[in-house]
Amino acid sequence: MVFSIHLPTVLLVYKTALAAGAVGIYHVSRHSCRPRGLKPLALAYLLLALGAELAARGEYLALPLWLWTHGSLLLGTVAYPLFWASMRALSGRRAIPVKTLAAIPAGLFALGLLTQFPLNNLHRAGVFHATATVALLLSSWDIWRDRRAEPLPSRVPLAAFLLLSACIYALRLGFIVNENAASAGFAWAFYIQMFCHFGIALMVAALSSERASERLEQLAHTDLLTGVGNRRWLASRLPAHLPPDSAVMLIDLDHFKRTNDTYGHAAGDQVLAACAQCLRSQLRESDVLGRMGGEEFVVYLPDATAEAARVTAQRLCDAAARLEVATDAGLLRATVSIGLACARKAGGSSEQWQQAADQALYQAKREGRNRVVAVDHLPPPSSTAIPHRASEG
Ligand code: GH3
Ligand code: MG
Ligand code: MG
Repeated sequence: MVFSIHLPTVLLVYKTALAAGAVGIYHVSRHSCRPRGLKPLALAYLLLALGAELAARGEYLALPLWLWTHGSLLLGTVAYPLFWASMRALSGRRAIPVKTLAAIPAGLFALGLLTQFPLNNLHRAGVFHATATVALLLSSWDIWRDRRAEPLPSRVPLAAFLLLSACIYALRLGFIVNENAASAGFAWAFYIQMFCHFGIALMVAALSSERASERLEQLAHTDLLTGVGNRRWLASRLPAHLPPDSAVMLIDLDHFKRTNDTYGHAAGDQVLAACAQCLRSQLRESDVLGRMGGEEFVVYLPDATAEAARVTAQRLCDAAARLEVATDAGLLRATVSIGLACARKAGGSSEQWQQAADQALYQAKREGRNRVVAVDHLPPPSSTAIPHRASEG
């Protein structure tokens, strides 16, 4: 026995859910850190709700035939292309020009006026279902294909809801083309669409919230001045014990106090930020660079032999020396000294290796600055009495 559901009730719940979706998405758009696409999406939900209302009133003969047929088709064919454009924008893609977007409903509306095809139930439903299927398929594809660029968990269910909605419209289109549109599946189709559109609205809200959390986390881990990771982030990225064939560096700008005293703190800030970006540009994506504090940076190379680490450290030193920073006080240069500690074998905590790098840095400063001093062993326990540079900055 096929479980039947009451069509007018389903339609009522369908349009109510769409209206609630419109209000919900509009609310999210007002408080989102990246609201692109959300307001148009809320509008698309509202237009769909109005279209459903118009069609329902028409079915009950409360409106002239030409008004509800042309009107509901216009609302539906505006809403779904707008829906797709919103999803694209939400996903982070380039906006579709309004003219291109308006051409679809405008063309269909003009064709409708000329041929009066919307007065025929099958033709009107066919055009609406075809528009919805294409728009939802494209929306699903756009959300899905950007998941690598922005791997947030809500993308997959969002794309799935969009795809399911497109499939239901496509299935319905099949019935319409075969002139079997009055099948018992009509109420079920609306029921599933209500489920999909409810799910889409929820996942859109989830996407916004995931973006906000990610942004907060990024802010909490980023050094404001230089844009590289801060001390807290460094602590989370450095392992408790360095694995074999890894290295840690301490990098300190040379005579930076002099730069500040001569050219001012603002120019010093500009030099500091440019140096950090210069260092970042010389490292691999998997290497860790963070600002320890003051004018001191830490680099962790998780996968580098002692030889490779030396080459990298020298490259950083040379790149900093070549750098010319355009500041408000003119073109300034800076050099760095680097203490490098290479862990050839397993053993030794991260702090111990940082201490070894700190002592190497101290030596690099004593030997004249603008150079790399490397060590590949931990300092003996008694040497902790040696001045500790890391506390300076
Ligand atoms: P050395 O070559 O021995 O490292 O000399 P130095 O002058 O760089 O060393 P010192 O530690 O004495 O001075 C570090 C200076 O860095 C002092 C401080 O004013 C400056 N500094 C620390 N943080 C910042 C910052 O955020 N912006 C600017 N402009 N200067 C900073
Ligand atoms: Mg310094
Ligand atoms: Mg310092």
